[in-house]
Amino acid sequence: MSFDADHLHEECGVFGIFGSSEASAHTALGLHALQHRGQEAAGIVSFDGEHFYTHRALGLVGDNFNSAAVIGKLKGHIAIGHNRYSTTGDTLLRNVQPLYGDFSFGGLAMAHNGNLTNAMTLRKQLIDIGCLFQSTSDTEVIIHLIALSKQSSVEDRLCDALSRVEGAYSLVVMSNNTMIGVRDPNGVRPLVLGKVGEALILASETCALDIVGAQYVRDIEPGEVVIITPSGMRSIKPFAKTEKRFCIFEYVYFSRPDSISEGRNVYETRSRIGAQLAREAHVAADVVVPVPDSGIPGAIGYAKQSRIPFELGIIRNHYVGRTFIEPSDRVRHLGVKLKHNGNRAILEGKRVILVDDSIVRGTTSKKIVNMVREAGAKEVHMRIASPPTTHSCFYGVDTPTRDQLLAANHDVASMAKLIGVDSLAFISINGMYQAVANINRNNANPQYCDACFSGDYPIPLTDAGMIATGSQKDLFSEVKDV
Ligand code: SF4
Repeated sequence: MSFDADHLHEECGVFGIFGSSEASAHTALGLHALQHRGQEAAGIVSFDGEHFYTHRALGLVGDNFNSAAVIGKLKGHIAIGHNRYSTTGDTLLRNVQPLYGDFSFGGLAMAHNGNLTNAMTLRKQLIDIGCLFQSTSDTEVIIHLIALSKQSSVEDRLCDALSRVEGAYSLVVMSNNTMIGVRDPNGVRPLVLGKVGEALILASETCALDIVGAQYVRDIEPGEVVIITPSGMRSIKPFAKTEKRFCIFEYVYFSRPDSISEGRNVYETRSRIGAQLAREAHVAADVVVPVPDSGIPGAIGYAKQSRIPFELGIIRNHYVGRTFIEPSDRVRHLGVKLKHNGNRAILEGKRVILVDDSIVRGTTSKKIVNMVREAGAKEVHMRIASPPTTHSCFYGVDTPTRDQLLAANHDVASMAKLIGVDSLAFISINGMYQAVANINRNNANPQYCDACFSGDYPIPLTDAGMIATGSQKDLFSEVKDV
């Protein structure tokens, strides 16, 4: 298991720009700002009014889109891009998005953030009627449905295709002189609209607008399809209206703290979650210490509310390269020390409140607690800025199966014992709603998706019985590149 494997992983970031002479350079910058949403692969497809150009690669944006030679080849005034952390399909070059297809109406490229929950069912049906799949990505199902649609325009074909899929999707699509953005009817994953000069941008988060000097215009609404052409932007809502269920974990962990998500600054929201946690789970202590980096905003909120000093009692090494992300057996046991180290000057002899965003398997938490004790802490109390993660996500986040989720198999007291803390507490689910949006969960409108804490899945899990391991990542994973 890699050092980061004890966190939930967002799987994708998407970016698209229409009407810019620097379209591919801006897309590379946008993807760089969205790197936290996926580090396994990145791709850009551009269009210059006549031809499509593409570059896809495994690895980080900065390692693959760092030269004038690469950016220069991606000509044109429209470009879309994608960062991948696979939830469905393996990390193979042919799964790297944007996916591209040649259709009767011309070329079409698609970048997808989310996960389809009936992709396997549809894929079997499509294979039965003769479709040949080139990738193991769920997104390719949409490409085939577009090809088979009897509608004539690209937008009608896309809407027709999407009327058959279930799940979470924020899409950026490019075809000839058109860019289309779509959010699924529940609006599970984010998608924002921005503007720089005359160019329009679609991106997973506002931090990708900031990096290219674009203004945030608004969020794309759940179930909304925006069609951007040389004559401007149109918006349609072709799907049956349903309840909004934005992923509440975007606020807890996935989104970058400087992004504005559904009108809320992510950093401030995390800090409020920490303050609520302090109100719910106070404990006498000398110092509040975040597990960096994701625990920092919550710890700041906890410290302010509890009036216990905030200190960086754990220092994170930001230069842990990919060499160490999957280390050899010789250094694997050093694991957590490569990334984090206890700051003895802060921790020795102290009663410490450790704040982290979540506990998934609990393996990293255990190592960090041990490290804090080795650095001399007298007591260690762990406070978690999300409710216990008891269920897997099927909407575009890589989560372990339930048998590997610590909170699915243990109560809080036995989790505390396993992790080795003097006390352990999680924010309540209603407290999280209060902190995020000042609403009660039971009469929340809009409601959020909180299925990984509650088991209340807002979108049917049609494929669930077809996945032997119960993990969305194992969809289609039987196909291997050699
Ligand atoms: Fe977000 Fe959890 Fe819902 Fe997945 S299950 S979309 S991580 S809230």
